[in-house]
Amino acid sequence: MYGLACRGSEGGARSILTEPFDAEEFRKHAHRMVDFIADYHRDIETFPVRSQVEPGYLKKLLPESAPDEPEALEDILNDVQSKIVPGITHWQSPNFFGYYPSNDSTAGFLGDMLSGGFGIVGFSWIASPAATELEMIVLDWLGKLLQLPNEFLSSGKGGGVIQGTASEAVLVVMLAARKRAVEKLTKDQGISEFEALGKLVAYTSDQAHSCVNKASQIAGISLENLRLIPTDASTNYSISPEILAKTVAADVRGGLVPFFLCGVVGSTSSAAVDPLSELGDICKEYGMWFHVDAAYAGNACICPEYRPHLNGVEKADSLNMNPHKWLLTNFDCSTLWVKDPTLLVAALSTNPVFLRNKQSDNNLVVDYKDWQIPLGRRFRSLKLWMVMRMYGSTGLRAYIRNHCNIAKHFEELLRTDSRFEIMAPRSFSLICFRLRPRANDPDKGYSLNAKLVEALNSDGNILITHTVLGGLYTIRLAIGGVHTKLQHVDAAWEVIKSQASNLLNE
Ligand SMILES: *Cc1c(COP(=O)(O)O)cnc(C)c1O
Repeated sequence: MYGLACRGSEGGARSILTEPFDAEEFRKHAHRMVDFIADYHRDIETFPVRSQVEPGYLKKLLPESAPDEPEALEDILNDVQSKIVPGITHWQSPNFFGYYPSNDSTAGFLGDMLSGGFGIVGFSWIASPAATELEMIVLDWLGKLLQLPNEFLSSGKGGGVIQGTASEAVLVVMLAARKRAVEKLTKDQGISEFEALGKLVAYTSDQAHSCVNKASQIAGISLENLRLIPTDASTNYSISPEILAKTVAADVRGGLVPFFLCGVVGSTSSAAVDPLSELGDICKEYGMWFHVDAAYAGNACICPEYRPHLNGVEKADSLNMNPHKWLLTNFDCSTLWVKDPTLLVAALSTNPVFLRNKQSDNNLVVDYKDWQIPLGRRFRSLKLWMVMRMYGSTGLRAYIRNHCNIAKHFEELLRTDSRFEIMAPRSFSLICFRLRPRANDPDKGYSLNAKLVEALNSDGNILITHTVLGGLYTIRLAIGGVHTKLQHVDAAWEVIKSQASNLLNE
């Protein structure tokens, strides 16, 4: 019976049943899988960028229960090709311009593979010393490329850690800030922890990522105590220090306690950059934790010409950026640096008896379990290490600059066509634009531009997404894919122009 199930892989089932990780079988299958992935990348432009399936499509194609008998890899790969690939939106396509990019690369993939191959769970130093030590070293390397002050590095008093996502990075620093603020309040005012928590107020701009809102909810900061400071075109959607200072002062007069500010370098909508130095001064005055979220644009700051966008970071307590977005490191890899890791540990450490060990008890080592939400953690530093070694900082900078140059080129193309307008200044590789509506357009170009985006995406040639800036529907073209070249952006411009003509002639 399992002869049948194992068509095409002689003896496969037998060894899978007795030895799920047989080295020779693994070698054979993994080579097959590498070929499959290489072919996928080679052929990626033959697929519509946005998956064209309808919700629930897969249920109709797959059995209702798991198979009883082992199945052959070839049969499964056939299903991947015929049933899964149609439901994939091709993030690695050179014609993917949506959201922010997510980078796969050869080096990142190899590192990820190695991490999977070791299969360790490095929550404490003792659970795999290399995992902790390599992460500390690689985060120092990357911190130096970003010209972070020494205080953020493990060679200073701080340190870096790899989180899965920016959302987790923001949450853990908010929890550290909350712990510090609640302790101070209970001591100074003799109130309960519960009462103290109710007084805490967090601040960010209305352009901050929704993960700040989510972190507040998880941290028990009520939405009433999360201030989303309004921004507008007059500051290019960056936060105004004057408005922030006024809001904070009013809260203090009202008996509340400001404890946390998240500034943004490269907002999700338009890549706006907050004035870090001024924000840092306000935080200092009120004793607030200052976090900088640079998930996308932080990557560009490894180039000296973009580094000024991080000026003022020396006044921050913490900073995160996502190498998985734009630094050739396969998802997931979000790097977080803090000046005082003891505050993270104070908020997040647990010390159950089954994890106790000599090195931890004697404070000789970092145990990254105390710098994050979960206990278990992957050996993610391998992929970042491989990326930094196989491309070198010269290669990484060239990679970023190439995308920014292509973005500049697209911006110039846009300016040649008066039917379009640019909605926010371009600082990196994101362009925000829209089709100008007619003067009497009842919804100010909203449905016109929404139709344009839908027409482009359902065509399958390119994928783009949108935002709303100053109440106006805005198309975002984010450049940063590992396969994206100038010719792809030229081709995108052609399809955008032609769909725009179709719409305007309707
Ligand atoms: C993409 C992005 C995030 C969210 O990133 P995750 O890693 O998916 O949580 C947060 N902040 C900014 C500014 C972003 O651009």
